[in-house]
Formats: sequence, C-alpha cells, structure tokens
Amino acid sequence: VVSVEITPRNASFAKACPQRVQLDVLRPCEPLPPSPFLEKLFQAGHDYEGETCAGLCAGVEGARVIEVEDPDAREWQTMQAMSAGARVVAGGRLPVDHEGHRVGEPDLLVLDADPGGPADAAGSACGYLPVDVKFHKVLDAARKPGTGRALVSCLDAPSFAAASPDPEHDARWRVDDLLQLAHYRRLLEQAGCASPLRNVGGIYGSEGVIAWYDLDEPCLDPSEYLVAPSAGRLSAMELYDLEFAHRLAVHAAALEHIGSAAAPLLAEPITCRQCDMCQWRSWCAERLEAVADLSLLPGVGVARRRLYKSNGVENLQDLAALDWTTAELLRCKVDLVDLRAQVRDLPGSTPLDTVIPKRKKQLEDLASLGFATVADLAGVDLEVLDRHAGVGSTLSTQIELARARVGPSPAYRRHEVERIGVPRGDVEVDVDMESTNDGCYLWGALVTDRRVATPAPRYVSFATWDPDLEAGELVAFKGFWSWLSDERARAESDGSSFRAYCYSRNAEQGHMTRIADRLGLRDEVDRFVTSEAWVDLLEVVKTQLITGRGMGLKETAPLASFAWRSDDIGGQSALVNYDSAADDTDPAAQVEAQRWILEYNEDDVRATAALRAWLDGPARALPSITSAPG
Ligand code: SF4
Repeated sequence: VVSVEITPRNASFAKACPQRVQLDVLRPCEPLPPSPFLEKLFQAGHDYEGETCAGLCAGVEGARVIEVEDPDAREWQTMQAMSAGARVVAGGRLPVDHEGHRVGEPDLLVLDADPGGPADAAGSACGYLPVDVKFHKVLDAARKPGTGRALVSCLDAPSFAAASPDPEHDARWRVDDLLQLAHYRRLLEQAGCASPLRNVGGIYGSEGVIAWYDLDEPCLDPSEYLVAPSAGRLSAMELYDLEFAHRLAVHAAALEHIGSAAAPLLAEPITCRQCDMCQWRSWCAERLEAVADLSLLPGVGVARRRLYKSNGVENLQDLAALDWTTAELLRCKVDLVDLRAQVRDLPGSTPLDTVIPKRKKQLEDLASLGFATVADLAGVDLEVLDRHAGVGSTLSTQIELARARVGPSPAYRRHEVERIGVPRGDVEVDVDMESTNDGCYLWGALVTDRRVATPAPRYVSFATWDPDLEAGELVAFKGFWSWLSDERARAESDGSSFRAYCYSRNAEQGHMTRIADRLGLRDEVDRFVTSEAWVDLLEVVKTQLITGRGMGLKETAPLASFAWRSDDIGGQSALVNYDSAADDTDPAAQVEAQRWILEYNEDDVRATAALRAWLDGPARALPSITSAPG
C-alpha cells in the first residue's frame, strides 16, 4: 500500500525506466529539452491515431467520437457513451482510478457482446474492450502457410465478435502494447465497464486491421527490473500489475526521500534502450561513467549487471580484472570441475591427453590456451570457476570488452587478429542512403580514384524530394544504380579493382534489393552485393577491433579523428529536416533543408572513407587486447 499521495499515472508508466520515474520526482537538475525528433515522432503518432480513429469510426454505425478537450468533460462523455451502449467510443478518457493511481485515454473502446446472446442496447450486461492504434505492424507471416493463429477484425467491423482467424498470419506480441492494453483493462474494471465475457484487447496496426490478444494468456517473460519474478511466463495482466506496482514503489520512495533524505531510493541509473531519447541522459551518463557502471558495456543489461554484482563484481574494473583464460575455457565448455577431480592424485607432469583421451575438442581448447599437463591446471582461476561459471558463455567476451573500455587505448585488436586488414580498391566508392518509413529518398556516394597520385574524393548524390516517395525512390535509385554500374564498369575495363563500401549492409542492401525488386533489377543487384566489390565496413571493424563501446559509425569514425560538421550526428535531424526538404511552403526553408541533408549525407560517406584509411594505416599500431590491463 502506497502511503504518500501519487498523481495518477498513464499507460506509459508501467513501461518506463524506473530511474526515470525516480528522477521525474527528484528533479536533480533541469531535464534536457525534448529533441525535435522526439516531438516529431509524438506528433506523427498523434496525427496517425487521430486520423485512424476518425476513419475507423466513420464507417461504424453507433460509433461515438469524443471531441472535447477538457479532461473532466471527456471522462463524463466517455461514460455517457458507454452507458448508452455506443458500439465504439473513440478518443475517450476513462475515469481516474485514484486508488490504483491510474489514468488513461484508450484510442478506442469497443462494445463486447456475445454473438450467441441477446444484444443489449444499453451495454449494461455487456462491457467494453480496449483497442489502441499503433503506427507499426501487428502481424507476421505464419511460419508455415495456413498455420497462423492471429485473430483479426476489419476496419468496418471493429468488434471482437466480428473477429476471424487469419491462418496466414501470427499476431506480434509486443510487450509494450500488451502492458498498455492491460492498463486500460484495469481502468475499465475500476469504472465497472470491462467486458465480463472475456479479457482481450486489440491493437490496430499499420496493416489496417485489429489484432486481438488474450490478456490472460501466460506468454510474456518478466522484465529484468523485477528482482524476484515468479518462475515461468506471465500473462499481460500479471506482468502489468508487477511492473506498475514496481514503478509506484519507486515513485513513492522518491517522494519519501524528498521528505527525509534517510529514506532509501529504489532505482539507479542503468543503461537501457530508453536512454538515447531520455531527458535525463546527461545526468545519468555522468554518474554511470563516474562509477564505471557495468551497464556501460554492450550486452550488459539489468539482469546481467545484478548477477555480476551478486558475485562481487561491482564495476568495469572488477570485471576487467577477472581471469580471461579460465572464462575462455568455460566458454569452450571444457569441463574443468570434472577434469580437476580426475587429476587430483596425478603427478604434475601427466599429460592431459592421457587423462581425457576421448575428449578431443576439450584437449584442443586446453592446448590452445596453454594447458598441456596436470601442472598447467594450477593456472585455472578458482574464483572465476567457483563464482562466475553461472554467468554463461559470454563472460570471456565481456571481460575483454571491460578491459578495452577501461584500458588506455581507444581501441584494441581482437585476440586472434595479428594485423588489421581492409579490402581496398583502385577505385573506391563510399555509399550511404537516407530513408523514412515510406521509402528511400537519397543515395549519396564518395568516389576516390586511388590510381592518381593525390586523389581528390568527389561526392555525388541521387535525391528525390518528391512528396510521393513511393514513386520518387524509384527515380533516385535508378540514377544511383546506373551511375554506380558505370563507375564499376569503367574501372574494371581499365583492369583496375573496384570496391564500394557501406556501413552495415542491412540498411543499404535491404533498400537496394527492395527497390531493385520493384525495378526488375534484382538479379543485377544480387550479383553485386554478393561480390567482393561490395564491402561492409562494419563487419571489417567488428571482426578486428574491440572498444568496449558501441560499434556504430558515429562511435568508430572518431577513432579516425573524423568529425561531422553537424552537432546532431544521430540521424534524427535528417528525419526532421526531410519533411521540410520535401514539402515546405517556404522555398528558402526547403532549399536550406535539402542542403542540410546533403551535407549530412556527404559527411557520413566521408566518415567511412576516413575510417577505412585509418584502418589501413594508423590502426595497425593498436595494441592487442591481450595486452590490455586486467
Ligand atoms: S538516462 Fe537511461 S537510466 Fe537514466 S533515466 Fe533515462 S532511461 Fe533511465
């Protein structure tokens, strides 16, 4: 029971980073202003929901759209509409649940009726089901045709009773969506308006259908923030109740802490997926760095961090100090416990291959790490063996990541890398594209002709600013592809080698093949992206370097002393500028937005070029991770 007064929380509360919940109460400094990108995202989501709700309701008899702004009036009208048995209530607001500290505004409330039972026009014997509108997909193609289990309703009949199975699709079970539906269900229950027939909720996705979810089906894993989650999977309702209660406790503890500094806080900064867009990120980042927090490492989340701490590993320095060799033996699944038991009474000079002669793979791994005789086993670190064996096979990797992160060099060569290499060409082209959810509007390339004494890299771009991006992307890609093919053919006709580089083939290649399908160029493009002429620099970097940090271009290009002209190098401003570049009523603003995007794109391709030159030169002097201090 929470004793302090808590403002009712909305549906996002159960999904929020607990530290954020805490800082929203404590407010230790001014939060950063929301980024224009985030505001654009909110606005796009809001517009989409608004349009969709209106569109949904236009074709539904008995639908009621709540249009007033005042929260109390919205609540009242929503309750009136449900009491009157409206088939759908759009844009409503449910009464505040003061006891549960909840408030919520579901996009749609859909009347639920038993198709076999008598219709109840007043809706009193029936009840309502929550449906939320999302800007993402809700369906996946079934693994085998005809085996899908999705239950969907169409736009013109959004009720559950009208839902039918879609054997070609499975519903996407997104935790965030389900927690939101569970939040609305609790509010409906409190208001006495929840359907007594079933506990389901719907998500209207970008496919234009509502996918229905059983909120009582145990199908979700507990979040890592829950310290002692029950064994097994949880239903959306169970998980929601736990998550919401956890954040309420964090919130209440923070309020008590304000009243009495001795009252303990329940959350702390832990790096998570929400950090990049969080208004407290500067405050948290400073503290995470100050304590060398384990969550700064890629792959160390809340649960792994907790496990390390319970084993006495408090920070990155502690992790870096663990014995890598023993952890590597554990990764290789060498049964050290059994082996040590077997050699207990044997002379030190006994070769291990006489102890476990049939375990060839284990012997190979032992030998590769310098363990040939019984005496060598004295090098096994018992602390790692006894305390950290339960961490799993990634322990040795994370020890190296920690060493790289706390070591003096900005990057290290991976264990097995003797000399850093990168494929080079006489003619090199760095490629980067820019896209929105609707398509790809720019292909930029930097050509470097290394056959001349002092190459002067040349930037070329193929852009479309056509607001009809579906059509425009074909024109832009056609131009780019024809130019790239000509450059390649010209180089190869001279007997010169040609290489084109991207940073993460998933992005560029994904769009290339998708658009090539539309243009009938798929075979040509497939031949190119599977040839040695097409190089993913991210793969080159990841397989040879270790930094203990992210491996995105924005993190690796600065290793080559590359700096972007724009302060905002997260790619978010490009999306914000795109709207203006494509469709601004002010021609000067439109030209300026286009100029900004092209400059940003040019810097990205110059960054990959700089990174390649660095890999092929100064990076060779990087120390091996084996020399990083442990
Ligand atoms: S920066 Fe990260 S850890 Fe800190 S409050 Fe935000 S999301 Fe939570």
